[in-house]
Amino acid sequence: MKKDIFDQIIEHLNELRIESKTAYIPQETANEFFADIKPAPIPVKNRETAPAPAVKPTVQSSFPAPSFNSPLTQMNLDELNAEAQKCRKCPLCETRTTVVFGEGSPNADLMFIGEGPGYDEDQQGRPFVGKAGELLTKMINAMQFTRREVYIGNIVKCRPPKNRNPFPEEADACLPYLKRQIELIKPKAIVILGAVPLKFLLNKNGIMRLRGKWDSYDGIKVMPTFHPAYLLRNPGAKREVWEDLQQVMKIFGKVHKK
Ligand code: URA
Ligand code: SF4
Repeated sequence: MKKDIFDQIIEHLNELRIESKTAYIPQETANEFFADIKPAPIPVKNRETAPAPAVKPTVQSSFPAPSFNSPLTQMNLDELNAEAQKCRKCPLCETRTTVVFGEGSPNADLMFIGEGPGYDEDQQGRPFVGKAGELLTKMINAMQFTRREVYIGNIVKCRPPKNRNPFPEEADACLPYLKRQIELIKPKAIVILGAVPLKFLLNKNGIMRLRGKWDSYDGIKVMPTFHPAYLLRNPGAKREVWEDLQQVMKIFGKVHKK
């Protein structure tokens, strides 16, 4: 398999560690990895700014929206997980195999938020374990973090059929879990992966325009970037993602300042 920018960075980091020079990757060195990556034009059909297909959400009124005073806001992470495992607050409960709560360190300083489980995640009950997950793991490692020390979550915890985007009603029903997870974990920074979490966590549209720009959620720094599944279809965009991730690394002192 052809090495991508993240493989190259991880390899370089390993070399540095072996030579026990430094665990950090100088900015200039990181920039060298860009050299052979030509930014590919993004096909119009894949642009996330393209109008969303008109799909009419059907939500039965028998699925109540969580009330404002939901006891979720009182639960710890284990209680929240237990609650999610039996959740039937939206129709996605009908088609799921497992509830994918999220995973990582409860004390994580850095959190990644995706859309929702895909096929592999639904089968295994773990977030980002399929092809896109492999790429996310490489992105995390290139940032000099491990999966175990960050926290990985999703907007919805049950797989939308055929991996469609979650409907607003589904995201609204599920968000109280994620919001409580963020409140409990209190990360210093959150990386938002793609248009879906941008829409539902920050209530903003335009990942093409907003990626790479710091935003905030509840006083926490938020960096929107492209979703790894998008990168699988548009490898040229890895360059931009690496730039976004380096901005995040900087606040953890993981990039040498010039
Ligand atoms: N894509 C996501 O957005 N989340 C996952 O957990 C897996 C793939
Ligand atoms: Fe509950 Fe969220 Fe699953 Fe819907 S997606 S059933 S709200 S856990």
